[in-house]
Amino acid sequence: MVCDGENAEETPMIPVETFRGKKVALFGLGGSGMATAEALRAGGATPIVWDDAEKAVAKAREAGFEARDLRALDWRELSALILSPGVPLTHPKPHWSVDLARAAGVEVIGDVELFCRERHRLTPDAPFVAITGTNGKSTTTALIAHILKSAGYDAQLGGNIGTPILALAPPAAGRFHVIELSSYQIDLTPSLDPTIGLLLNLSPDHLDRHGTMEHYASVKERLVKAADAAIIGVDDGFCEAIAVRLDHVGKPIVRISLKETLGAGIHVRGREIFAWRGHGRKLADLTGIGSLRGDHNAQNAAAAVAACLKLGLSEAEIQAGLASFPGLAHRMEEVGRVGKALLVNDSKATNADSTEKALASFEKGIFWILGGKPKAGGIAMLAPYFPRVAKAYLIGEASDEFAATLEGKVAYAQCGTLDKALEAAARDTKDADFAEPVILLSPSCASFDQFPNFEIRGQRFREFAEKLPGFQAR
Ligand code: ADP
Repeated sequence: MVCDGENAEETPMIPVETFRGKKVALFGLGGSGMATAEALRAGGATPIVWDDAEKAVAKAREAGFEARDLRALDWRELSALILSPGVPLTHPKPHWSVDLARAAGVEVIGDVELFCRERHRLTPDAPFVAITGTNGKSTTTALIAHILKSAGYDAQLGGNIGTPILALAPPAAGRFHVIELSSYQIDLTPSLDPTIGLLLNLSPDHLDRHGTMEHYASVKERLVKAADAAIIGVDDGFCEAIAVRLDHVGKPIVRISLKETLGAGIHVRGREIFAWRGHGRKLADLTGIGSLRGDHNAQNAAAAVAACLKLGLSEAEIQAGLASFPGLAHRMEEVGRVGKALLVNDSKATNADSTEKALASFEKGIFWILGGKPKAGGIAMLAPYFPRVAKAYLIGEASDEFAATLEGKVAYAQCGTLDKALEAAARDTKDADFAEPVILLSPSCASFDQFPNFEIRGQRFREFAEKLPGFQAR
């Protein structure tokens, strides 16, 4: 492992040895870029780094990296272009650095590709679970890592969630890398071959960066196609078609479904997860697990159960891990209670599709805080769930638009700001005629009119909640 000096133990890293003695260009220093540059340097390569942001370039220079405009380089001397997944590889058009690399016949890859090459070199059998899908990636990735850790295994969690992949501990026997991958990362990883590949679901998303749904789906398909074993949520047509194609080439697949029609695979009924091989043996039960409410989380949990069974965990270990999963911040996160009301932070719900999942997870007594910078379409699609809402509390720019949608259907108050909305909701739940009312922040809006991002909006919700009289932490 890696770093010189006293902090070696505290700062894991996967030194990239496959480019030892070679020069590589690296574009994109935000996110995982610096970790990649460090890993290349630690493995004896010379990264030449660049970014459009001057601050990022200055920071790289401070860390001792050679930072130069890649347009000024002789590309014949370079062995690869390492591209940040945030930079366009294909659509709407390739970034200029990609054009330069291609013109010189230089390969264009990402940090996950570097990981895969190191895994091949060090321990090709080291367990590597890769997770993708349009929705639920972070939850499922965190859940699998949590189940493994709670059963006493060394699980390294990262990729598109949290820690950049090259800032994790190196692949080793008995060490599980549980890695979330976006479609952009898959696109930059030609030798991706996880032990288990998991594709949760597919719906149109990021088409600005992938051109067509077919291209987007084909990128995601590569992850399961290249895996030793594939787990696929087959409740949408795109994923079902992928599963059928993999059947045809003899790839072992576990299908996940919440629908009744599944013949073989893992099936969710209500809160229970069954192995569906004709006799329907119960594998796990989500009843009472607050961090995994809702059908969407049942899909995530079923996929995690399938992955952990494949990895050899016992049903008892898996059930214990599910039950102790704390959930992810800002995704239907239970913050605590005030009086009899449960406080739930779903700040990540920046559109109506996501809020639908939250409203569907509580049958009644929802005191719903929403608003912010509105998205096209507003909240009209949520009308089927309005009967579950006891009262709505509107904040931010979307207030008037949302008030018009709710008018005559749901009682509402225009509160302006989050703190006022929370105070009003807490007051109203005191005398409400529900055994367990829920104060739910699920804004259906971007946060930018009042907050820097959805994380800070969620943090403020927690801070304001903690100041409410009678607040009890979770
Ligand atoms: P991702 O990492 O793919 O963005 P997350 O696990 O962070 O997904 O969940 C983000 C939001 O997506 C959740 O708050 C929820 O609204 C929705 N979601 C989560 N899991 C699913 C799923 N399996 N199907 C559909 N929507 C989901």
